[in-house]
Amino acid sequence: MADFRLPPFFRRLRRSLLPALAVFLLSPPAVFPVTAALRVAVSIPPQEWFVRQIGGDDVTVVTMVPAGTDPHTWEPRPSQLRALAAADIYFTIGIAFEDIWLPRLLAGSDRVTVVAADAGVEKISIHHRAMHGNDPSHAGRHDGEAGHVHQAVADPHVWLSPRAARRLAANMAAAFAARDPEHAAACRRRHDACRAAIDRLDEEIRRFLEAGPETCFLVYHPAWGYFARDYGLEQLAVEHHGTRPGPRALAGLRERIDRGGIRTMIVQPRDRATAASAAEILGVGMAAADPLAADWPAILRDFARLVRDHGGRCP
Ligand SMILES: [Zn+2]
Repeated sequence: MADFRLPPFFRRLRRSLLPALAVFLLSPPAVFPVTAALRVAVSIPPQEWFVRQIGGDDVTVVTMVPAGTDPHTWEPRPSQLRALAAADIYFTIGIAFEDIWLPRLLAGSDRVTVVAADAGVEKISIHHRAMHGNDPSHAGRHDGEAGHVHQAVADPHVWLSPRAARRLAANMAAAFAARDPEHAAACRRRHDACRAAIDRLDEEIRRFLEAGPETCFLVYHPAWGYFARDYGLEQLAVEHHGTRPGPRALAGLRERIDRGGIRTMIVQPRDRATAASAAEILGVGMAAADPLAADWPAILRDFARLVRDHGGRCP
């Protein structure tokens, strides 16, 4: 109908432009090279390490929440939803913000297979002090009543544990082999090597931590519960999943860190400003650790060093 009004030149232009435009619009976003065998999307940067270890050259990976961004407040941009819709596999990790992506994703793509990388991981329960989770990345399972969450929710920080990492790797390897059977044998070999690398790192950290007297550490955001469990440590945290403690709770915490001989609080880079006042009240300095960095072994190795340098001996 619009053709009727257009001068011939524009009609010809439109005839030649439209197919090109259609190809452009229907093409996957440029984040995925066209040569890739398998396009993989992940939620957070540490997952990239596992994808590259296990997928090798047979995959390309795009990360939804870029390094340095806070996943607690992150919202998907339209371009990211398009990237996600062009993926073959999306590995979720059990962070609640994925609940924002998934309905939109599944409505917009029949191509992507959603795989829960954390399936089968034994979760640690954390306890909410309030009935309403106001932290979107850590909100609990809704039980059907509006605004109501269970008080015990699963700690989402599973990737900070070598024990859980073995399961993440196995889940990813199985998904690659199922989606890309041609490369299944190579994938299996790389998965074996990845598991060996996890075992070596686990052993290295265990020996390193056992060589020191530290039994506890102080953090602002309680991301390190699985790490603490794996290595028999106690995590003391200022924040309780979105809730900041009142003066009485801080006083109780101060007593514990004083008795443990802790002088430093380990803080995520993006929490530095928020954590400063708590550090002052607690009388401790701050050291930075980023649990969302892309170099997974370095995250754990660096944190072990921080525990040795700044941890304490809690009674
Ligand atoms: Zn967190």
